[in-house]
Amino acid sequence: MKKLIAGNWKMNGSLAANEALLAELAIGLTKGLAANPNCDVAVCVPAPYLAQVQALKSAHPGLSALDVGAQDVSAQSAGAYTGEVSAAMLKDLGCRYVIVGHSERRQYHGESDALVADKAKAALASGITPIVCIGETLAEREAGRTEEVVKRQLAAVIHANGHCISEIVVAYEPVWAIGTGKTASPEEAQAVHAVLRAQLKAATDQSARVKILYGGSMNAANATSLLTQPDIDGGLIGGASLKAPDFLKIIAAAHV
Ligand code: PEP
Repeated sequence: MKKLIAGNWKMNGSLAANEALLAELAIGLTKGLAANPNCDVAVCVPAPYLAQVQALKSAHPGLSALDVGAQDVSAQSAGAYTGEVSAAMLKDLGCRYVIVGHSERRQYHGESDALVADKAKAALASGITPIVCIGETLAEREAGRTEEVVKRQLAAVIHANGHCISEIVVAYEPVWAIGTGKTASPEEAQAVHAVLRAQLKAATDQSARVKILYGGSMNAANATSLLTQPDIDGGLIGGASLKAPDFLKIIAAAHV
């Protein structure tokens, strides 16, 4: 399966910083993607910068293969929801992906499994691929509940989305590994990915289409060992996606 390396810029960037980062990426991607046609690359940027990133994509031929994504979407389609951004708006701005259910949104904004599932549904209805994040906290892992938690989170999305489930991307992101410098070992990550693969297989005969990304302190040094696991189909990259040389090295590591 073609791998996907997606950057999550989180709430970082500025007009000037984005321009500099993308100019550096353009140079590297021209070389990297030509050598690695089997890897899709995306950046999920703060909503106010989506138009800027699209404009920069048009200006730099080196960015033509780069896909653009958002970091959140409303479960509602339109109306009196101040501050929300709809899937149709993201589609209008050329988004191919949107992250839903990132642990920071579950933790700081109280997003439930049901809301995350509805957001995935809203994205799919507008032709946007949701990157659905799931993952256990440290306390849940230590209590031996990892499998139960990730299966519950994924089950909510499967339940709400029926046969469309084959159109999603899953990102397994152990909460204790996000932004902490602690990475799940390749074996720990693979074990969870295999559980998720089996769950998807039971839900749809199109499960082979569903990419399962790993996220959590993936960097230039550990990317190869993670990305060569049989059920790891790419990465969702936070901190390292803000540094062009690191992000490019991770993309190169996806060349398998
Ligand atoms: C993320 O934000 O999805 C993430 C994986 O962050 P980091 O790579 O910084 O751990």
